[in-house]
Amino acid sequence: MPENKMPVPRATTASPYDSQPTPTNASVPITRFRDGNRFLSNFWFVPQGVSFDQMTGPTVEHVFQAAKTLDRHQRGAILNARTALEAKTLGQKVDLRPDWEFLKLGVMAALQGSKYSDPQLAALLIATDNAHLEEGNHWHDTFWGVCSCSAHDAVGENWLGRLLMIKRSLLLA
Ligand SMILES: [Zn+2]
Repeated sequence: MPENKMPVPRATTASPYDSQPTPTNASVPITRFRDGNRFLSNFWFVPQGVSFDQMTGPTVEHVFQAAKTLDRHQRGAILNARTALEAKTLGQKVDLRPDWEFLKLGVMAALQGSKYSDPQLAALLIATDNAHLEEGNHWHDTFWGVCSCSAHDAVGENWLGRLLMIKRSLLLA
């Protein structure tokens, strides 16, 4: 490609963000993992399964919750949970492994890597272009997402969104 042939900036659709001074080629932020962006959720069913440390489950949520404990029976019950929500609920009652706080970010990053090894999911993630990603929620998750309840008022560290944006960069590298 000749050096003077620069990519044409993407046209952005009208949105409330248009009034803000964003770069002309910035995509509209994705702040809810629902509707067409629901695949970004850890509850999304992954046909080939998601794996980490010899555990495989149907969603990131299943394996993440199972990884919280070293108890084989608790792990098995979580991996076999019928829904991601059930896995999440079971994960709140496990015997937590003592080093979990140090591990959880790395485990989540590895699980996103496993999930987006699916070419179709990878294509969907890449198609979000350079959009800021964050899991806006109302269930007070201010570590992985951003909570919009009146008490938290859009506070959150957005670690899931950050990991997804890192994974997207790696897919494009
Ligand atoms: Zn809240």
